[in-house]
Amino acid sequence: MLIRPLVRALHAYVPGEQPKIKGLIKLNTNENPYPPAPAVLKAIRAAVDGRLRLYQNPTAQTLRERLAQLHDCAPENVMVGNGSDELLALAVRAFVEPDPGLASGGSRVADAESRAPRARRSRSTVQFFAPSYSLYPVLAAAHGARTNVVRLAADFSLPSLELLQRSKAWDFDAALTFVTTPNAPSGRAFSTAELDALCRAHRGVVLLDEAYVDFAEENALQLALKHPHVLVARTFSKAYSLCFQRVGYAVGHPALVDALDKLRDSYNVNGLGQIAALATLEALPYYRANFERIKASRGRLSEQLSDLGFQVLPSQTNFILVRPPLHSAKVWLEKLRERKLLVRWFSAPEVKEFLRITIGTEAECAALLKAVRRILSP
Ligand code: PMP
Repeated sequence: MLIRPLVRALHAYVPGEQPKIKGLIKLNTNENPYPPAPAVLKAIRAAVDGRLRLYQNPTAQTLRERLAQLHDCAPENVMVGNGSDELLALAVRAFVEPDPGLASGGSRVADAESRAPRARRSRSTVQFFAPSYSLYPVLAAAHGARTNVVRLAADFSLPSLELLQRSKAWDFDAALTFVTTPNAPSGRAFSTAELDALCRAHRGVVLLDEAYVDFAEENALQLALKHPHVLVARTFSKAYSLCFQRVGYAVGHPALVDALDKLRDSYNVNGLGQIAALATLEALPYYRANFERIKASRGRLSEQLSDLGFQVLPSQTNFILVRPPLHSAKVWLEKLRERKLLVRWFSAPEVKEFLRITIGTEAECAALLKAVRRILSP
């Protein structure tokens, strides 16, 4: 009775395992296999002194200014978050009206509400494609919002706008639509032209989640600066080897950014995170070299796994989605774990036959291949 019914019924997000066991090769959470640039580590170390007693800049002002410079926009177009996950959660809170039935935790009431006028339903709807980031439904449920989930095409490409309009399953008035681009866990990228057409057809907010975009050929940042209802979310976690520090940002129209800003914790981005992110932006050539290295490994590993009978989806991220031969994906997960290799498996119906493998260092990819060959030849 102490806990709200909505919270009692909530299935929390399950992050990939962070194992305590030593010697495991971690290819399960899309972390970057290479460390932050030496100058970034130095900047963090230099900041660890008596100043930790002080509050950091509450608006991440300098970081926002630098990001604005990088993206050729104003600091008012940029909001920094405690990881991009925080920004996704804030977007749900800022743009989506909770459904009264769901917010009070009752599914019965929600059923009755489903007969509510379409416009009212849309205002309470968080929409996304399946498969995509498994956090979105959790954020919607935590807010008492509806979800509208539409499957991507069988090859995980974006359904055409015409098809979405014809099928009526997609809600162009949904209060908030998340599009993961490049997609996770498929790895597939969507072209900016396609995303532009999709955004133009929408009347609610569209958030393009570009967590993996540095490994892709195109990005859609310009759409957030062009359309008043589009936000792009980015993160320092993956491409910039900074998961530990939790820094992400959103770019968009000042009115949308201001809405997110009103809801955030006053000191949402920790001070060392701000320092690390600023130093990262001074070391971009180091990271760009890493992207190239990871993309080259991705190409090699994809080819080698294809040769061994895996179906490998084309990827523009730092992971690949593969359908393994011989055993089910779940059995492969276990067999690889026995050999100290951690990869990710999702039980969702669209992807349960696949494994998601993060691109590791050259040595880690070689260890994976060795284990795969062993498993294939008993
Ligand atoms: N979006 C997607 C698609 C992700 O996979 C992740 C990482 N799990 C995030 C956003 C969030 O990353 P972070 O909060 O570390 O910035």
